[in-house]
Amino acid sequence: MKNPEDKRVEPKIKTKTKLLNLETNELNGNFVELLGEKIRKDNTNQVRDNTKFHISDMGRCYRMRFLKRLGMVGEPYNDRVLRVFAVGTILHEWLQEQAEQMGVLVGKEIRVENANWIGHADAIIQTDGYKVLYDFKTVNSRKFTYLARGESDEHYILQLLTYLVFLQGGEHKDLQDARLLYISKDDLRLHQPRYHLTDERKDAIMLDMATMEKHWEEQTLPLRCEGWESKYCTYCPKTDSEVVVFMKINQRKDA
Ligand code: SF4
Repeated sequence: MKNPEDKRVEPKIKTKTKLLNLETNELNGNFVELLGEKIRKDNTNQVRDNTKFHISDMGRCYRMRFLKRLGMVGEPYNDRVLRVFAVGTILHEWLQEQAEQMGVLVGKEIRVENANWIGHADAIIQTDGYKVLYDFKTVNSRKFTYLARGESDEHYILQLLTYLVFLQGGEHKDLQDARLLYISKDDLRLHQPRYHLTDERKDAIMLDMATMEKHWEEQTLPLRCEGWESKYCTYCPKTDSEVVVFMKINQRKDA
């Protein structure tokens, strides 16, 4: 017989609560939450040299690159984006490892640098005596649809060819070719278009570098860009006046 003093919750309600917990992902031992904490911590602990412009940002928003070098930190990425970055790193490392095990890897994460620019080229791979610079790009399979339509990523091409210019001007004068290697994250297709350092692209590289260096030298804020980047950008505060306040506080570090 039930004790009238017993105030415990009825089993029916307990069952409902259990179900609710399952649906809202609130069970103890939540691996996904712990994973999120870990990748956020890993991301915070990553050491980035922001004292120079990054070659991996070539062709992208001038303002974002200027603010980055000035020390502005973008809004934190959410866990999903951090997982995407982590998988990109895993795939990069896997490709480099495979090339190493095949005995065709000449170099990986090759550092290139001058007074204003810094970068790490993904890999130089030599097959049949032919030495090729590779820049790996992890993308989703939709990108392959665009590539099949003949579209190209000009900023990726600029990045690749800037590495080529730096490497050919240094210890890798014998580099014969440069390729992007696209890796589709969802179906693991590969695509490796080859790009040449045409006069037009040389000019684009020079213009990009000269524009950034001029803004830095004169400490002038580049205009807002109007392209696709603003949709994903985490760098730009809401108003120009907020940026100007930030610039005043963070005067050029080498001035
Ligand atoms: S929001 Fe747009 S203009 Fe501002 S830094 Fe980002 S990409 Fe550039």
